[in-house]
Amino acid sequence: MTNDQALHAFGQATEQLQKALKAPAPTIERARARQAWLRFQREFRTTVTNIYGTMQDVGATAKWVTEEMPGAKERVAGLVTRQHGRSIAMLNAQFSSAYERAFELGLRTGGAVRETTENELAIVRRQRLNENTYAGNFLTDLGHGEGTMPWEKRADLYANALEEVFWQGYLYSDCSADRYIRWVEMPAVETCLDCAFLAGRLSILERPLLAKADLTPREETLLATIQARKADQGGRWGTGVYSARELATMGIVPQSGKLQCTTQCHCKLQPAKRPEGIPERTEAQEPYQSLLPKAFTGTGTNARGKVVVAREHKQVRRMGYAKRAATTEHRHIGRGETAPVKKAVAVLKVGEQKMLLTQGWVKIAQEQ
Ligand SMILES: [Zn+2]
Ligand SMILES: [Zn+2]
Repeated sequence: MTNDQALHAFGQATEQLQKALKAPAPTIERARARQAWLRFQREFRTTVTNIYGTMQDVGATAKWVTEEMPGAKERVAGLVTRQHGRSIAMLNAQFSSAYERAFELGLRTGGAVRETTENELAIVRRQRLNENTYAGNFLTDLGHGEGTMPWEKRADLYANALEEVFWQGYLYSDCSADRYIRWVEMPAVETCLDCAFLAGRLSILERPLLAKADLTPREETLLATIQARKADQGGRWGTGVYSARELATMGIVPQSGKLQCTTQCHCKLQPAKRPEGIPERTEAQEPYQSLLPKAFTGTGTNARGKVVVAREHKQVRRMGYAKRAATTEHRHIGRGETAPVKKAVAVLKVGEQKMLLTQGWVKIAQEQ
């Protein structure tokens, strides 16, 4: 064999290998990964619910004991602090492994037969730090026997939020421009403007509003937004089908915190064919922005009939958590990019102790 022949043979073998590596996992493997994900999410929900439940129980009981037996105050406060620290340690451990696992199962459901890459791990890490910021805050409320949202519901939201990471894995399993994905919403349960926009189904939300005689100020805003955005809904073809590359650039998947519905989203992603015909619009080049930015979602009228804006996550925003969370919010991180995670440092006072929130990991330090 001449040198050229050898090179030619080597080239052919390499090409075959590349094809084999690119070939997605068989359908059955992908279905299995989806099942494994659903099971995993249920287990995560159980664990997180119990961590919150324990903290709530200890916090509420401590409050009662302190009122009934003032002499026990110090001892009880110590118990609350220790339990708080343990709960945070357990949550951090849970979140740390769960986020990577969710992404990995998403990758496999999307058909990838490879390990999670460095830039993907960075994406997952950002997501986790973002969630940790909120999770620690809520534990603190429970320790004080406070908290505006029922803890079961809150724990549930964290389990839902994990689904965003699963869909990111699904998306990143193959980000080629020639892979197409459909954003599918469940119209019966979904009333979210962003999801309807992304799926190209704003008319479903518009119809009942048009049929109504008297609209509240909130509904009027909604209708105006729907009519203003109908022309550019549903991606390039208006059908809710996007190239995987485009969705990655938009940095949006079901259950994303950027959506108006946040963790109450019922949408999913499905493989799709490239829609027929020439696209009506060009590919999105920017991260997706919610049609109704979250801070201003709840418009309504007060007792005097004046229009008021009720901010969502009011307490969370007041404490500056949202600002810190924004530094770790999901964004697309390309293969060559490095150092994507900004330091999110905060000091929170919990009773007699200070909690240092460093890169999402909460450490407890004795106050001087
Ligand atoms: Zn939605
Ligand atoms: Zn949705």
